[in-house]
Amino acid sequence: MSLLELLSAGNSICPCFGLAVLFACCPASGMCADPGAGAQEARAEDRKWVALRNEMVSVLLNYDIRDKTVLDAMRKIRRHEFIPERYLSEREAYGNHPAAIGHNQTISQPYIVAYMTEQLRIRKGEKILEIGTGSGYQAAVLAECGAEVFSIEIIPELAEHAGRALRREGYTQVRLKNGDGYEGWPEHAPFDAIIVTCGPEKIPKALADQLKDGGRMILPLGESGVQRLAIVSKKGGKLEVRDDLPVRFVPMVRGTERRPEENVE
Ligand code: SAH
Repeated sequence: MSLLELLSAGNSICPCFGLAVLFACCPASGMCADPGAGAQEARAEDRKWVALRNEMVSVLLNYDIRDKTVLDAMRKIRRHEFIPERYLSEREAYGNHPAAIGHNQTISQPYIVAYMTEQLRIRKGEKILEIGTGSGYQAAVLAECGAEVFSIEIIPELAEHAGRALRREGYTQVRLKNGDGYEGWPEHAPFDAIIVTCGPEKIPKALADQLKDGGRMILPLGESGVQRLAIVSKKGGKLEVRDDLPVRFVPMVRGTERRPEENVE
């Protein structure tokens, strides 16, 4: 499997915020240029997404997500920008359910993204490995929480899409690799924490090996349809596994298992 480091450089977050600041700074004398219909439309559009994100965060609060860093991250990140255009709608972008991203894959529902991130208890600057980049949204959440993010995706088209979305949204520090997550990313190991967003039947050995002593891992374990989230900690070289919520994730496939038709959108 060829390895691509997809992200290196890019530009800053959300030009429309810059626009909002500009208008807020305009003197009342009317010296500012007329923003024009296009800019007004863009701001109305932006307000619509902001309102939907606030609603999404209220749902997370109702579901007992309490970590302020996670809530702030999800309030800020433009989730709709991570969903390929042909699958995008208001309901898809911010409803509390998984959203299709093509290639038979989905972004997890916002509650699961929030819950798994909260359980990781990320501290600023920690190195986190994600398996299953998908749209890149979870990687953005981890980055917004202050982590140094490494993320692996097995489907090249999704890895490319995620790379573009992350760059566009300003998360240029996230490192992506198109490859098989069962191998982990030994060049950057050990990791403070690992999050797996597709379901293997057992904890992959390479991931256990690449977790720092004292590190945490969260992953769905079991056959597809009957998985449970496992919250794992590594102590003295040994893994302690705590069984958590029942969940349903797409399976974690091996490099050789992907059928050619899964490559086409
Ligand atoms: N975290 C993603 C959603 C992941 S969906 C997001 O925020 O959008 C699960 C992803 O895991 C899919 O994109 C799938 O292609 C990927 N995947 C499955 N098996 C994998 C493997 N062995 N290595 C890396 N990625 C894998």
